[in-house]
Amino acid sequence: MKDKTNIIICEQVKQIYDWLDSQIKLIDADCSACGKCCNFESFGHRLFVTSPELLYFRTNINQLAPSFMLGVQKVHKPLQNICPYLIDGKCTAREFRFSGCRIFFCKGDIEKQNALYEETIKKFKALCDDQNFPYQYMELSAALNQH
Ligand code: SF4
Ligand code: SF4
Repeated sequence: MKDKTNIIICEQVKQIYDWLDSQIKLIDADCSACGKCCNFESFGHRLFVTSPELLYFRTNINQLAPSFMLGVQKVHKPLQNICPYLIDGKCTAREFRFSGCRIFFCKGDIEKQNALYEETIKKFKALCDDQNFPYQYMELSAALNQH
């Protein structure tokens, strides 16, 4: 039963990401993919993540090759304030990245980004309510480096 619920949650997270990606195309989203904002310490910002997104991320990332996961673990020590999936300046988990990663653009319109982020978070909350799944909102680097 729990597995079935998790599958449904992952499918719905993917749908929310698809919706989100379509919305991002409508806002100013210029990005050179330099990776600087994924080093939270040096960039000076924080990203957050919701529990259904983490479930989706872990479910998909665990299917990648063990050698990839070993590489991720070797690059960053636990609890560094940097995303462990940032390797050689690139996101190695781009397909499954979080809503905060998708929405943030350093040169973009912050008000539009905030409005889109709030709308997105509401969708994740509603998903948790519908599926009776515990809603959590966590600081991203701590959540990723814990596991
Ligand atoms: S949002 Fe800005 S800092 Fe982040 S990857 Fe894109 S260009 Fe680099
Ligand atoms: S998942 Fe990718 S985009 Fe998001 S913080 Fe980590 S390296 Fe950056």
